[in-house]
Amino acid sequence: MYIGGHWREPSGAWLRVFDPATGDEVGRVVAATPEHAGEAVEAASYAFPDWSGRAPDERARVLRKAHQLVLERVDELARALTLEQGKPVDEAKGEVLWGAEFLLWYAEEVRRPLGEILASNGPGQHLQVRRRPRGVVLCITPWNFPSSMILRKIAPATAAGNTVVLKPAEQTPLSATLLFEIFDEAGFPPGVVNLVCGDPAVIGETLTTHPKVRQISFTGSVEVGKLLLTQAARRITKVTLELGGHAPAIVFADADLELAAVKLRFSKFQSAGQSCVAANRVLVEAAIADEFAERLAAHADSVRIGHGLDPGIDVGPLIDAAATRRVRAHVQDAVSRGARLLAGGDVPQGLDADRFFAPTVLAGVSPESLICREETFGPVAPVISFRDEEHAVELANASDYGLAAYVFTRDLGRAYRVSEALDYGMVAVNDGALGWVQAPFGGIKQSGEGREGHRLGMEEYLDIQYVSLNY
Ligand code: NAP
Repeated sequence: MYIGGHWREPSGAWLRVFDPATGDEVGRVVAATPEHAGEAVEAASYAFPDWSGRAPDERARVLRKAHQLVLERVDELARALTLEQGKPVDEAKGEVLWGAEFLLWYAEEVRRPLGEILASNGPGQHLQVRRRPRGVVLCITPWNFPSSMILRKIAPATAAGNTVVLKPAEQTPLSATLLFEIFDEAGFPPGVVNLVCGDPAVIGETLTTHPKVRQISFTGSVEVGKLLLTQAARRITKVTLELGGHAPAIVFADADLELAAVKLRFSKFQSAGQSCVAANRVLVEAAIADEFAERLAAHADSVRIGHGLDPGIDVGPLIDAAATRRVRAHVQDAVSRGARLLAGGDVPQGLDADRFFAPTVLAGVSPESLICREETFGPVAPVISFRDEEHAVELANASDYGLAAYVFTRDLGRAYRVSEALDYGMVAVNDGALGWVQAPFGGIKQSGEGREGHRLGMEEYLDIQYVSLNY
């Protein structure tokens, strides 16, 4: 717990952190009380006038220093991430480095113009539009990307001049703790960034309804996002929401099928499928559906599963037994509705059935299956066939989510037509990744509101003030 520039001594309660691959305890962090949560907000509020009044370049210097320190400690950060979250250590390293890019990007972005001068209505008048930091921002982050989601919020929020209270996920507070060591060393003045870990039932409402919190930036499930919106409504607190997804990946017969399989292997199996932008429905043109499903199954079979710290591992465990049960239930439901199992389907030999699930490919999946409606959050690729372009778009858009979609085709006209027709915040054509630091990441419909990354990622943390100046 880091409040007002100080690490707090334990006051009795701890949160224990477990390795999802073994169940072994790998660390403990101090659990916050509602009083601590209130103190963190007060510390951030106290620090705001000074921090927001500093020159952007001065704030940028702290962010650049933090970036350098993350690079210096990348191996340590990656190891902690693997131990608490499970993903293979090379993938964890990739996540840490990706998160660090946001520090650098927003250190630059804050130096670019943030206002406008409008046409005046007559002589002696200036109409200006300014952007101003809001104040205290509450950042709440999930366990599936425990490092990058923190940096993707704290970098733009603080670059813009706000101060922050972070509540990371209970299952993955170690990455957060190490990042706060780095923030401390980088020179954030006391109170600019504060860390409280703990049970939302204990500290959640104190944080979300605190009168000095001007904004909540949340990444997590739709269910919790809705709850936070309701709580924020009491004080009309601004809320940005990066929520769940149910990404369709549309593969047309004219696509480079091997490229599509390689990209989907990454999109589907990285982080054991526990990603908001993971392809959850693989929609394949009927003429090549069987061939493509076999190709994807060969990729799934080649994936090595095990403890993320062991060499050569591609996929680690799921986060907990409940996650494994949900994935198994989705597979069983699809099979009971006629799907064929081409790869995986259960726990790989020799591994714990409560912790691991083999990369799985299902063919001939009915669009009525559970897996086609709910976020699976596991390494399962259901292949569903479609007749033509119109049918593909209809199936893809049949979801309450609207985060990410993927299209594989060599036809440029089709690439434009289909990406425009998709009701999703992000579309990748012939690729399986979307989270570039310079691009606006985010969804529509029940996938959320607001963007991270890009110039817009900083605008989320700024109020607009219009001044009519007459002389
Ligand atoms: P979650 O259960 O919604 O939890 C997310 C965060 O919210 C955690 O820190 C959690 O704390 C906290 N939280 C839960 N209830 C709260 C409350 N009443 N008040 C305040 N905070 C509360 O989600 P998750 O299972 O960790 O993450 C998976 C979800 O995140 C998936 O749906 C995934 O798609 C989504 N996600 C979206 C993006 C995106 O950019 N769109 C990126 C990554 C993940 P505890 O851990 O202590 O419960």
